[in-house]
Amino acid sequence: MAEKKGVNFVPSTTVVDMKVAIKGNDKTVTALTIESEGKQRVIPVAKKDLVFFTNGSMTQNSTQGSMTTPAVMNRSVDKRGCFSLWEKLAKVSPVFGNPEKFTLNPDASSWVSYTATITDYPQFFKYIEKKTGNVTGTAGVITMTDSNWFKSINMPIQPLYPKQPKNVQVFWGYGLHSNEIGDYIKKPMTECSGEEILQELLYHLNLLDKYKEMRPHFNVIPVMMPYITSQFMPRGLKDRPEIIPDGSRNLALIGQFVELEGDVVFTVETSIRTAMIAVYRMLELDKPITPLFEAHFDIRVIMACLKKLLGVENLTMESIPEEAMATFDINMLLMVLNTIPKLPIYYPEMEENKKDRRIKQ
Ligand SMILES: Cc1cc2nc3c(=O)[nH]c(=O)nc-3n(C[C@H](O)[C@H](O)[C@H](O)COP(=O)(O)OP(=O)(O)OC[C@H]3O[C@@H](n4cnc5c(N)ncnc54)[C@H](O)[C@@H]3O)c2cc1C
Repeated sequence: MAEKKGVNFVPSTTVVDMKVAIKGNDKTVTALTIESEGKQRVIPVAKKDLVFFTNGSMTQNSTQGSMTTPAVMNRSVDKRGCFSLWEKLAKVSPVFGNPEKFTLNPDASSWVSYTATITDYPQFFKYIEKKTGNVTGTAGVITMTDSNWFKSINMPIQPLYPKQPKNVQVFWGYGLHSNEIGDYIKKPMTECSGEEILQELLYHLNLLDKYKEMRPHFNVIPVMMPYITSQFMPRGLKDRPEIIPDGSRNLALIGQFVELEGDVVFTVETSIRTAMIAVYRMLELDKPITPLFEAHFDIRVIMACLKKLLGVENLTMESIPEEAMATFDINMLLMVLNTIPKLPIYYPEMEENKKDRRIKQ
């Protein structure tokens, strides 16, 4: 569909360098170096052209294992796709941020995920439904909270893929603590093959006695993602660049590694919102960007969190800790209430989008 509107997708091609001319405070992209089938080519970028760059990816350098082999961590520091390009850009000007804050420690930002493809064994999905009460496709992740790997599985609606055969089911799982030793398989998840991950899962589901029966029906593919939580690494305020960095004339940065006040990283919404902001502002479009949903100011959310924290069904005087009551101060409460911002206007971006950033030809 996008092709019909003139979009030209160029597959199997990596942008390896971006030339940026600096004139005073102005920063203008003048060329892109692209690599395809081992050959490099320079594409000139005119002043009126716009460049939108996803300057980081949580799946960068992911690797796959198999039923019999683990997924091996890719520790390359010079071939990291968009991170490598961001590193080059960051050397041009501090306004482009500090990528190393996010890429320095893959051991801390990685975890293992896996997909399971089940053929001719519908009993498994039925068992999960019975055990958890979650009808397939209706719940979020199912977490085995006492698992050392902190394992979760997600049973999506079937078929998940357009041409998925009727006798095939797929689900997805992961372990947030992939470096810990398993409860049944005495190894870190990072060192485990698909077979071992399956055994550990069946152990937690109390299905280990069925492993031999199930094994021929399962294909479990582990995936090692070195940067999957790199967005959450400790950082300072300027480490993520602005969507349109100061002085940028034809370059906008989009995705998970740009500043977007109030939004939550890891979500598709964030990437889409950053792209919307980038396009609307660069093209000075008179189009609204839906304000963020500020759930933390919603009294229902605050109550739910408070009850969860206190471990109570209903809030009573007894459930409030004595220390909180002893230091209760009505003036303090009023001060806090007055810091709650006004309801956002539906169209807050209108003025912002009009700002003249581009070079007029
Ligand atoms: C296992 C998993 C589960 C998730 N679950 C959820 C969920 O439940 N809900 C949710 O909201 N989000 C979820 N996410 C997150 C969501 O998928 C991402 O936030 C989103 O896809 C990021 O989109 P993006 O366009 O910013 O980056 P990406 O999708 O990472 O796209 C970056 C693209 O740039 C390409 N690229 C990299 N380097 C270069 C280069 N040098 N030249 C050219 N191209 C390059 C890459 O190949 C890639 O296609 C999940 C992610 C994963 C991995």
